[in-house]
Amino acid sequence: MEQTFIMIKPDGVQRGLVGEIIGRFEQKGFTLKGLKLITVERHFAEQHYADLSAKPFFNKLVEYIISGPVVAMVWEGKNVVVTGRKIIGATNPSDSAPGTIRGDYAIDIGRNVIHGSDAVESAKKEIALWFPEGIAEWRSSLHSWIYE
Ligand code: UDP
Ligand code: MG
Repeated sequence: MEQTFIMIKPDGVQRGLVGEIIGRFEQKGFTLKGLKLITVERHFAEQHYADLSAKPFFNKLVEYIISGPVVAMVWEGKNVVVTGRKIIGATNPSDSAPGTIRGDYAIDIGRNVIHGSDAVESAKKEIALWFPEGIAEWRSSLHSWIYE
């Protein structure tokens, strides 16, 4: 089953949005497979965003991600990468539709509350980076009520 890496950024934690965000993924029917509150160091944040290292906003982005604890999660389900990005909304909250997390809870692109992997391949890399200890093995007993 497909997995994605979702991170509630420091602003989302500080603003008390953890429960709301987890609820949205739970209510959709996705399965929580990994979860931790963690403050990461600069080098780790730079690794996570390595693909963006040439961007002009890279240093500010790293400062943002290391500015407080984040909630790192692995969610599992059919098409969870693409659907997770839809639940999150467009990168710039000015363009995120109402009903999406960024559309409902964010205003500035540099305080957009949440990260989600953009492809199955990057999800695998991000899960390996953030959860080197591995993730939980379990199957929801609701499975047959969610999948036909
Ligand atoms: N970002 C920013 N300014 C920009 C573009 C992106 O501050 O012009 C930040 C923003 O927080 C975004 C993150 O960098 O979520 C990673 O950028 P990406 O293009 O990967 O967007 P995402 O995948 O998070 O939607
Ligand atoms: Mg991205």
